[in-house]
Amino acid sequence: MITVDDARALLLDLVQVSDIEEVPLAQAATRVLASDVAATRDQPPFAASSMDGYAVKAAEVEQHAMFKLIGEAAAGHGFDGTVGAGQAVRIFTGAPIPQGADFVVIQENVDRKGDLITISDNPGYKDNIRPAGVDFRIGDTIAAPRLIRAEDVALMASMNIPRVPVRRKPVVALISTGDELVMPGEVPGPDQIIASNTFGLKALFERNGACVRVLPIARDTVASLETTFDLAQGADLVVTIGGASVGDHDLVEQTTRQLGMEQSFYKVKMRPGKPLMAGRLGEAAMVGLPGNPVSAMVCGYVFILPMLRKMLGQDNPTDTLMTATLGQNLAQNGPRQHYMRARVENGKITIFDNQDSSLLSVLSQSNALAVRPAEDPARSVGDDLHYLPL
Ligand code: AMP
Ligand code: MG
Repeated sequence: MITVDDARALLLDLVQVSDIEEVPLAQAATRVLASDVAATRDQPPFAASSMDGYAVKAAEVEQHAMFKLIGEAAAGHGFDGTVGAGQAVRIFTGAPIPQGADFVVIQENVDRKGDLITISDNPGYKDNIRPAGVDFRIGDTIAAPRLIRAEDVALMASMNIPRVPVRRKPVVALISTGDELVMPGEVPGPDQIIASNTFGLKALFERNGACVRVLPIARDTVASLETTFDLAQGADLVVTIGGASVGDHDLVEQTTRQLGMEQSFYKVKMRPGKPLMAGRLGEAAMVGLPGNPVSAMVCGYVFILPMLRKMLGQDNPTDTLMTATLGQNLAQNGPRQHYMRARVENGKITIFDNQDSSLLSVLSQSNALAVRPAEDPARSVGDDLHYLPL
């Protein structure tokens, strides 16, 4: 058995960074930016008013000063002339500052009678002008790699970048194995249950940038497994669920061996999730996850997400653990690294009592996996504990 860290390192060696493709800006959110993109213009492209008011010469601004209105500047419609001594231009937010003006008196500080205005209240010192290029200049870049967020999409739009270079989504083929499994919505026989991990993992992987193909459930025969593996062709990563232990009906190891998999490892020193196997199957990486629903999801977080991050060209594929204050006492941990379902609220972590690896209800209530290293000594209320956010 190898450690979690060693297993993760071996898994990362099984995958490479995927190619670059271009997508329309409107589809760029949640993708990973693959190369730097640069602004194709200054923003704003001209000095612009940040308020509704009157554009005048700053040197003439004082309370009770009077000006003659000579025109209007609105967003999208600038004023063509020049503001001279004693003159003002009615201006609105986003409009270019007219030539000759270098101050906007806000309309609340002005009395207007026809085309004469008087500064009625103290106008202050703020000129209410956004200088050209104050947001960004032509050539300013957004650096890759970067998970593109809604905020980045807005910035790229403003930079006039209509197409965005992103990493191709890794294709993951997901194979559930087991005679007992039926799909959600089907009517299970008396000895059957619903395939759940498949859908949890699909959601998890897609949320983390993968394109997931759910293959038909493989039955517990070598022939059925072989047929299903055949359908996985073209995937970057083949993930099986279940059938990975050493029971009479656990045939994933035997089948992959017959299909010529170069096995990288089998079994990891962790709870939950000991029976984990991985290797290269032709062009694809293959990972066999344990079948117990919580084990499968935990292994998805701990092992598959780092692989996806590497394929997507992200900087640090391995998880960064967070720290919270323990809300209860914990006995010493055993010889395997333990991922415990927990809730973190306001910096305090509470571990659920029942950690049986079949309990999806407990996983669903959790927002964290507390991480306890092998042989971690007993812990007390108030200790710092590492966790992986869910
Ligand atoms: P196995 O590793 O195949 O022995 O499966 C361990 C346990 O996980 C058994 O109770 C299986 O019924 C269950 N299991 C395996 N695959 C799934 C799945 N896709 N969804 C829900 N439960 C599963
Ligand atoms: Mg099984």
